[in-house]
Amino acid sequence: NNEELAAKTAAINADTNNPTIFDKIISKEIPSSIVYEDENVLAFRDINPQAPVHVLVIPKFRDGLTELGKAEMRHGEILGQLLYVARIVAEKEGVLDGFRVVINNGVSACQSVYHLHLHVLGGRQLKWPPG
Ligand code: 5GP
Repeated sequence: NNEELAAKTAAINADTNNPTIFDKIISKEIPSSIVYEDENVLAFRDINPQAPVHVLVIPKFRDGLTELGKAEMRHGEILGQLLYVARIVAEKEGVLDGFRVVINNGVSACQSVYHLHLHVLGGRQLKWPPG
């Protein structure tokens, strides 16, 4: 259907090493609702939330991490920080007892922004398997 096609097209067109919208969110050129920020990591509310709690956790310095599939050993520290911030976000948002962390990787997973990001979802009963 049209929705699926639009999602796939957006995903294919986005699959580059070019700057993304997240650069402008990091630089505050585009406003966002920030939940957590430190030197290396930014967490902000998704503009199109799929659950009452839907926060994106991103590295401020992409350093080649357009997607998780590009990860190398040298990314280990930032990858650990992102996961830890996901837990801080879950606690701040009051969903520590039930939340989900999702990384969409590539076209067939409907990744649309090619700057690594963790989705932190919660605040409702989440279904399994995901769509
Ligand atoms: P992906 O589909 O790549 O896993 O997730 C990208 C996410 O970024 C989507 O959930 C989308 O709603 C979110 N997003 C895209 N543009 C913006 C924006 O300008 N601001 C915010 N807050 N979220 C955005």
